[in-house]
Amino acid sequence: MRSCQIIEWGKPLEMREYPDPEPKGSEVLVKVTACGVCHTDVHVWHGYFDLGDGEQATIASRGVELPLTMGHEVIGEVAALGPDASGVAVGDRRLVFPWIGCGECMACHAGREVDCQSPNPLGARQHGGYSDRIIVPHARYLVEYGDVPEELACTYACSGLTVYSALKKVAQLQKEDTLLVIGAGGVGLNAVNIAPAVLDAKVIVADIDPAKRQAALDGGAAQAVDNSSPDAVAEVMELSQGGARASIDFVGSPETAQFAFDSLRRGGMQVVVGLYGGKFRFSLPFLPLQHRTVRGSYVGSLEELKELMALVMDGKIPPLPVLSRPLEDANSVLEDLQQGGKIVGRVVLRP
Ligand SMILES: [Zn+2]
Ligand SMILES: [Zn+2]
Repeated sequence: MRSCQIIEWGKPLEMREYPDPEPKGSEVLVKVTACGVCHTDVHVWHGYFDLGDGEQATIASRGVELPLTMGHEVIGEVAALGPDASGVAVGDRRLVFPWIGCGECMACHAGREVDCQSPNPLGARQHGGYSDRIIVPHARYLVEYGDVPEELACTYACSGLTVYSALKKVAQLQKEDTLLVIGAGGVGLNAVNIAPAVLDAKVIVADIDPAKRQAALDGGAAQAVDNSSPDAVAEVMELSQGGARASIDFVGSPETAQFAFDSLRRGGMQVVVGLYGGKFRFSLPFLPLQHRTVRGSYVGSLEELKELMALVMDGKIPPLPVLSRPLEDANSVLEDLQQGGKIVGRVVLRP
């Protein structure tokens, strides 16, 4: 197999050749046909997340060793089954759920692998899909995707799932409410696409890039706001008649968090999804006095991915713009993502 790997944190990925792995136990070997490139891959590639004030959370400190194959939006064809694997057959085409838990802890036993105490996600702690082969630990992580084109379907494993799960956290919003979506890159744009399938609220998008604001309007957002403008909060207040009832922040920087906090009405919920990094300070009395919720949302569950794919297969979710590139282009795609979004929509690598 050919795998495009991190050999040294932050240095260009290198293509390496290995013998095809043999699936053991319940494992399934999947021949990869497409793998989306996610902004999280930029953080994994550099090997750390920025915690603010010069602090970092490194991936190496979690016991991850190099070389590592990134890629967690993986789709492909079952190539071989381990001796104890069942539920799929060689040749079946499946989407891979990458957010795999340890299988041992309380959260895993309760079916909340996303809250696992020592998670083992594919493409971040185990080898992922920047390769032509991937080992999936169990057939239950393989999800059907019907006739959806594979380069689109793979993006639902992270970009789509992350959005779906975040939207479900604000699904109580009604028609008269406003949802503020911050950041209209690949994931934020997907939120605009998926929102009408999950909730009735009006969607206002904020982005500093006029091309992305236009893409969000074309995708169905009611209004778009430039959050680098000093009038941005006032604009949201006016468009939402007194503040958004919820915000989903796909950037997650100190600036966007502050903008979200200032743009909400009483009872509002602020959901942080993006991993840009840094610290955010707010006055504690505002939480009780304004009856606020500030929370995070991280990817989503296997059940949510199945729910989402059912909506996609039903034609309820308009497709996201997707651009296919050969696996060899992984480095230049990561560079483009790192430079703050020359990319509208999602780039998918084809081995
Ligand atoms: Zn991702
Ligand atoms: Zn666990």
